[in-house]
Amino acid sequence: MDALMPSLPVLKRIPDAILRLSSQEVRQIFPEPCLIELEGASSETVFLSVLLHGNETTGFSVLQRLARWLRDHRLPRNLLIFVGNVHAAEAGLRHLTDQPDFNRIWNGGSTPEHALAQSVLTELRTCDLFAAIDIHNNTGRNPLYGCINSLAPQFLHLAALFSPTLVYFRNPPSVISMALSKLCPAVTVEAGRPGEPAGIERAFDVVHDTLHLSRFRTAGHDRELTVYRTVGRMEIEPGWRIGFSPSSDAPLRFPAEMDSWNFSPKQAGMHWADIARAGRPLRVLDEQRRDLTDQFFTYEDGALVLSRDATPSMITLETAIIQDDCFGYLMEQIDLVSQHGIRADI
Ligand SMILES: [Zn+2]
Repeated sequence: MDALMPSLPVLKRIPDAILRLSSQEVRQIFPEPCLIELEGASSETVFLSVLLHGNETTGFSVLQRLARWLRDHRLPRNLLIFVGNVHAAEAGLRHLTDQPDFNRIWNGGSTPEHALAQSVLTELRTCDLFAAIDIHNNTGRNPLYGCINSLAPQFLHLAALFSPTLVYFRNPPSVISMALSKLCPAVTVEAGRPGEPAGIERAFDVVHDTLHLSRFRTAGHDRELTVYRTVGRMEIEPGWRIGFSPSSDAPLRFPAEMDSWNFSPKQAGMHWADIARAGRPLRVLDEQRRDLTDQFFTYEDGALVLSRDATPSMITLETAIIQDDCFGYLMEQIDLVSQHGIRADI
């Protein structure tokens, strides 16, 4: 791919063959990242992005559902689909080792993938955009939740079509939803673990409902929402072996099935881990990578104890992901009324 002129194939339909393929066979129909332009009754366009992370297959399943639905339904609006990292999808990976993460390329950069992202955004700027939906999966157990980069009523309305549980963030600025949020209401859909039927169902429904919605609310919001903001990212120091069972012989032992703690509020004083050797294995970092550990945890007599109320999210039990990326995040709930003056009309 030429960095100056990235090829961005544009298809006019979702090939029927998609119904016979797995996500790892996606390159049989989409050999490269591509756009699919589907014409609807209205010139307003809903943008959908899938497979920015190649191993997050729910977006591919949603494309299959759309292909089936489109056999006997007409689109009420244009639907523009970006099929992202097909090479990583073929390999069953988030991204290939020689590629950047496709959800970190949307605010400029010098690789061919950054140029590809710019071509997608250039195309989007020619559209009358109604909304944008980016579909992802988690590795650990989490409820279905939406991420938004603005608390404007239109964003709350769009995200609430997917879930009453929302996460608001402004960092990193290189994710696609940050770029899209400058163009139209945008949501990142976190549809559970790859392949979970409930996540596929709900992700298809939010696309379908957005295509049919007459307009977004421009004031307040009309349903119970819980909106969190991320306050810290939990990382484990290199060299620490991790166990998820009280009987593990690892020097750092968390409770079993700790990913069931995700999105469940935890009170100050809660025991988080046993530590069987000297050191401070867990750190909490903010967006600027400032160390906030002492604001959240105390290390006491071989134990890690939460020192302030917080809600964890995206805790994963997969050691490789913990070492490559992070252990999970800590969040606080946003009070929409008192902090942002956003009224609920329930
Ligand atoms: Zn993802």
